[in-house]
Amino acid sequence: MEEKGTISIHTENIFPIIKKFLYSDHEIFLRELVSNAVDATQKLKRLSSLGEINQEVGDTTIDVSFDKDKKTITIQDRGIGMTAEEIKKYINQIAFSGATEFVEKFKDKEDVKDIIGKFGLGFYSAFMVAKEVEIISKSYQEGTEAARWVCDGSTEFEITKATKEERGTTVILHIADDSEEFLDEWKLKSILDKYCKFLPVQIRFGTKDESVEDGKDKDGKTKYKTVKKDRFINETEPLWTKSPADLTDEDYLKFYKELYPMTEDPLFWIHLNVDYPFNLTGILYFPKVKNDFEVQKNKIQLYSRQVFITDEVKDVVPEFLMLLHGVIDSPDIPLNVSRSYLQSDSNVKKINAHITKKVADKLSELFKKDRKAYEEKWDDIGVFVKYGMLSEEKFYEKAKDFALFKSVDKKFSTLDEYAEAVAPNQTDKDKNKIYLYTSHPGTQDTYIQTAKNKSYDVLLLDGPLDSHYVNFLEQKLENTQLKRVDADTINKLIDKDEKLDSVLTKEQEEKVKGIFETAINNANMKVSIDSLAPEEMPVTITMSEFMRRMKDMSKMGGGAYAMMGNMPDQFEVTVNGNHPVIDKILKAKKAEKKEQLAKQAYDLAMLSQNMLTGADLTNFIKRSVSLAAE
Ligand code: ADP
Repeated sequence: MEEKGTISIHTENIFPIIKKFLYSDHEIFLRELVSNAVDATQKLKRLSSLGEINQEVGDTTIDVSFDKDKKTITIQDRGIGMTAEEIKKYINQIAFSGATEFVEKFKDKEDVKDIIGKFGLGFYSAFMVAKEVEIISKSYQEGTEAARWVCDGSTEFEITKATKEERGTTVILHIADDSEEFLDEWKLKSILDKYCKFLPVQIRFGTKDESVEDGKDKDGKTKYKTVKKDRFINETEPLWTKSPADLTDEDYLKFYKELYPMTEDPLFWIHLNVDYPFNLTGILYFPKVKNDFEVQKNKIQLYSRQVFITDEVKDVVPEFLMLLHGVIDSPDIPLNVSRSYLQSDSNVKKINAHITKKVADKLSELFKKDRKAYEEKWDDIGVFVKYGMLSEEKFYEKAKDFALFKSVDKKFSTLDEYAEAVAPNQTDKDKNKIYLYTSHPGTQDTYIQTAKNKSYDVLLLDGPLDSHYVNFLEQKLENTQLKRVDADTINKLIDKDEKLDSVLTKEQEEKVKGIFETAINNANMKVSIDSLAPEEMPVTITMSEFMRRMKDMSKMGGGAYAMMGNMPDQFEVTVNGNHPVIDKILKAKKAEKKEQLAKQAYDLAMLSQNMLTGADLTNFIKRSVSLAAE
């Protein structure tokens, strides 16, 4: 039996197109061919378990090997194999027409590289690296003959009888000159590691060991004996395919280390296992989040039936969970379609919603089961929870019961607990609850202490998302306002309408105001006189909550707020008319002395806001020294 033929495809030669488009991702040929070998093996096992074949399944290891001298890469399986007729049908027709259709469909699309680079073309992708491909196959069906198929990448093929005793398929790639980089042990191993690490059938990677001396015969002539360094590449039953009931914490931690060597242990994990209405398994780990978000992104690996597909899971995993690590395996995620389609795919949407729900349930469970342990983890998981609340309403609905507030004195409370705790002392005259917070306890300490003197609580909201979170909470929580501790003087932050009487007359107030304005001499510092308790600071500098939020927004990017960025900062300078220093200023004889005292009080306020620098700081120190010497 010998037959030559022409593969019936419409495009004369689609190789140049494929080569061009797949340039950056040639390596996936190996994934495609090994996946085919796995499929053929799985089919055989299924037939066997159905009692459809009456031969031993035996060893089903798939062998991947290469020969640098002959310039070949070989993939050999012990699967169902193909008869000559089947090769003609499956390879000539299905594989080739599939590839043609694929290229036809995507060649004009912008993101074509993106798509086919990732999702491959099946058998045809062999021609990305090979100038000639041989298939030698023997079907499992009794009484059939082995067949050999050869194709040099044109539309011509040749099929002949072959001698092969063992059931299964051997694919031999004769590597093209421009793809010789693949005839390298390290290279092939790293490709196998990337894509085939968790395939369900044992894969062995063997190489000819060129360092072996007995490669020479008696006369000293080189006579290579192929000595294989055999290595099993994969774990056929990765953790996510097992039942959670059979696994221990150690198992999960060990698997994590396998996926991400050199990283700290994760905080906790979620084992996903869904079979209706879509099929999905996987394990998601919560890592310790560092400030460098970008480095931690793209750590979730997406698999389809244990074949690695990509680590860009952007559309499958909700945005706020992009920092999670782990694996997701689903045959229901459409892989051979474009990204925009992926976003609107109903399975993808359901998967997204499911993951969100699972994460919320897990957090809720941790919170209820061991609150103390949960609080200890809050610094790490808070970012996820807040991001989730900000970005998904459904998540917020659940998270509002386990989201925590942390006070500066490290006390934790839920949103409800906090509202109840501060209501008696922190409700203002308009019946609004006022939550005070600090974004930087180090530099806002004076203000924090002032608030504490009033027995007010101060929340620590110094995380990367907290400025958004503050805005968000105000919209969500009824009759509640959040104010940064340095946004106003304390009696205005929480205005209870309990005004102290001023010791100054209206006339004196005007006078004091004038003295300070002259001393400060800066139009962006708006001076006003207030009657605070005598033990409070003589001067307080604040930027209003509104003003500061606008500035924060403009910093975070554009839109209507962009112009705010160019405006000079404006501050409120509140002079405490009841402070003894003011009395001293009024009583001072010389105008110079009045100004010196006013300036000193003002500089102290600047200092506590971390705003005193340069010449102003030098002058302040000189003035302090001379005042001390008086
Ligand atoms: P796909 O795997 O998506 O069907 P391919 O182009 O990779 O497309 O393969 C086409 C067909 O060729 C397969 O569906 C299968 O029937 C057959 N085939 C490919 N490789 C093997 C193999 N190693 N053993 C048996 N059959 C194979």
